[in-house]
Amino acid sequence: MSTYGIDLGTTYSCIARLDSNGNPEVIRNNEDDSNMVASVVFFENEHNVVVGQAAKENIETDGDRVVQFVKREIGKPNGRTYEFDGKTYTPVEISALILTRLKNLVESQGNEIENVVITVPAYFGLEERSATKQAGELAGLHVLSLINEPTAAALSYCARQFQEDRTILVYDLGGGTFDVTIIKMSMTRNAQGKDVQKINVLASDGEDTLGGKDWDDRLFNHVLRACCDENGLTPEEIEVETRQDIRSKVEDAKRKLSKKQSSKVRIDVNGSRTEITISRADFENMTSDLVNTTMMLVDRVLDKIPGVEIDTVLLVGGSTYMPMIQNAVEAKFPDKVQQHDPDQAVAKGAAIYASMLVVEEGGVNSGETSGDTSDEKIPPAVEQLTAKFTVEDQTPRSFGPGVMDTKGSKQVYVLENFIKIGEKMPAVFSKTYYPLEDNQERVRLRAFENMSLEDTLIPCVDEEGNPQTTDPANAVKLLGELIVNLPPDTSRTTPIKVTFKVDASGVHVEAVNTKTNEVFETFLRTESDIDVEKSAVHQLRISAD
Ligand code: ADP
Ligand code: MG
Repeated sequence: MSTYGIDLGTTYSCIARLDSNGNPEVIRNNEDDSNMVASVVFFENEHNVVVGQAAKENIETDGDRVVQFVKREIGKPNGRTYEFDGKTYTPVEISALILTRLKNLVESQGNEIENVVITVPAYFGLEERSATKQAGELAGLHVLSLINEPTAAALSYCARQFQEDRTILVYDLGGGTFDVTIIKMSMTRNAQGKDVQKINVLASDGEDTLGGKDWDDRLFNHVLRACCDENGLTPEEIEVETRQDIRSKVEDAKRKLSKKQSSKVRIDVNGSRTEITISRADFENMTSDLVNTTMMLVDRVLDKIPGVEIDTVLLVGGSTYMPMIQNAVEAKFPDKVQQHDPDQAVAKGAAIYASMLVVEEGGVNSGETSGDTSDEKIPPAVEQLTAKFTVEDQTPRSFGPGVMDTKGSKQVYVLENFIKIGEKMPAVFSKTYYPLEDNQERVRLRAFENMSLEDTLIPCVDEEGNPQTTDPANAVKLLGELIVNLPPDTSRTTPIKVTFKVDASGVHVEAVNTKTNEVFETFLRTESDIDVEKSAVHQLRISAD
């Protein structure tokens, strides 16, 4: 099959597919002798761009030509860009380079790749999601869909152990991020009357600057200090090449400490060899606060669902190979912890989901961007496996328009949450509003995304009328606006029906002037530089009188 699942990770990426027996298998990266491709891009010169381990080896010596952790930037407002050799790259373009490397991996082994599912963190908003999809398309892939990483991990777990209803906590500690998610698996009957296991996300939390990298940094500082002490130098006197050497070796030492009680690091400092032995106990002491932080976040996600009973805990992410993590999680959830291929489970689950989508379409894909895959044969084992599940997508954020509300004698700009976080997708909601004034020429209808479950957020603009895009509690973000032009002599009692629809591909906003039946749906995204007016004119109001 030319269908693949891709875990586009912050530090490492992985690509998998189902073999003809329906077993997920990871495509090996022979060049780096690994199952992973480091999500690192090195712009060596204008003719050569390197992705993977070889790029990672330039972080200390050529740091200004290396891009890493691009996943933290993708789809972010006022997104940063990267400049190399007179060319500007967006996070989407950098991500596309990593995806292209994965695609090449498959093709270099004589296989075809066409349809893919790419994984995203459960907390990604729609902008981050659509940017990820865009990166896939830029890499020449047909992106069937995206799937939440913990959902993918749960899928790969269930593919091996088919069980009844169960509540799963996914503890995912990767290289740069920590995500903890509670997932519900329940048996349900699908449209064809067959029992399938439904997977949905109940709650998620995490920290996008906590991961294996922090453990590496602690070891790096420890080794650097030891090199200084041993050679009577200050940290500033250690050359960049030596730093790179330490940087490259500490990650390796960390991995060894997952298997062994101690690990040796040998570094050449100004021609003399320095050997540092690190015991697992020392390593655990210097990082215990990091483990505690993850456990605090586990408590925080549990608090979101009062009374929740966890049946199984899945350890996901390469950093869960560290015994200190396994021990801490086991202490909190005795006999409930499972760990299988923690660094591959997400890609494998995505491969299962990709095949599910292809099977649903009867092996023929409907994408406009893809070539002819109608000859795609689906092995019976794959068909059997994929028929066991259904994934329910939920809205990752709440959405709604900004409108004027009457508060006493004052008009206040409020955000009315049409669709709330966690609703089943596609989610649709409509409400009728009215122009603020008689003879209003147009309405500039702003759409917001936020993290709140409230019906209304007040106020959603600051004193100047600027949208509050950084409200930390509710993380209100302006998505864009819809211009609704009104004919001359429109009265302030003309009903304007506003509809929001949210599905996996994004938010669709529509307004209908119910007097003329004119429909407006050209939504201007924030990145196309909309000019948000600072006064209350050109708005809609809630009350009809
Ligand atoms: P991502 O965060 O990009 O999704 P992964 O889940 O693959 O990445 O996790 C990568 C992290 O896991 C890196 O910090 C890597 O050093 C760490 N890691 C991988 N294998 C081991 C191991 N055996 N012991 C300790 N850490 C490991
Ligand atoms: Mg990951």
